[in-house]
Amino acid sequence: MRKKIVAGNWKMNTTLEAGIKLAKELDASVANANVKPEIGIIIAPPFTHLASIKQVVSEHICLAAQNCADHKSGAYTGEVSAEMLKAVGVNAVIIGHSERRSYYGDTDQVIASKIRLVLDNDMKAIFCCGETLDERNAGNHFAVVKTQMENGIFGFTADELEKIVIAYEPVWAIGTGVTASAEQAQEMHGYIRKLMTEKYGKDVSEACPILYGGSVNAKNAAELFAQPDVDGGLVGGASLDPAGFTEIIKAR
Ligand code: PEP
Repeated sequence: MRKKIVAGNWKMNTTLEAGIKLAKELDASVANANVKPEIGIIIAPPFTHLASIKQVVSEHICLAAQNCADHKSGAYTGEVSAEMLKAVGVNAVIIGHSERRSYYGDTDQVIASKIRLVLDNDMKAIFCCGETLDERNAGNHFAVVKTQMENGIFGFTADELEKIVIAYEPVWAIGTGVTASAEQAQEMHGYIRKLMTEKYGKDVSEACPILYGGSVNAKNAAELFAQPDVDGGLVGGASLDPAGFTEIIKAR
């Protein structure tokens, strides 16, 4: 059975004080809700919060960063390395989020370099892929995701794939309030798993969690998570509300 995961991407929200409060409230809310221990819960606060939040949440809540540098160390002003993240107790790093791809020019090649550094530092990579609305309307959504997968993760070995979680996030659904239908999500997740099977074989593809992201909330989560190839969610806006995020986790 592959891991079920609900991850919260806080993006560039909360001061340190507000972030610590949010993390503590989520921790208490999850404990009160008796969430099954086998459900993986991940939160991805801003860089500045990671070391402090690590100290205040229980083991059940894993910590992710939202990005890392594409170089190991050195003269890269303003960057944060994978090694630095590992050293403060980070468990996973989101790589290739569409906001990084579109606003900061993260190419597939840069994304692959970042994933290499994340894995080399013994953390998990949450690899994001997904098409824009224009690409979907033109009927290119499968081809776009295939290229992102080939360039982003297909250079890694089957063993390394064990440390990669895929997040399918159609760009048109991120932060828009427009969610992919359960059928659209399943169709793409099934396709991603088929690509994984062709490249790595059934054992690897069946073990790989594929999360859906894009305007997931407490109302639509259960239907999305009920799809056979949707193993959980990567949640943006709705992860900033501890009670609502707990409802999403419970839907998993
Ligand atoms: C995200 O940022 O990964 C995301 C899915 O955002 P939202 O849930 O707000 O659409």
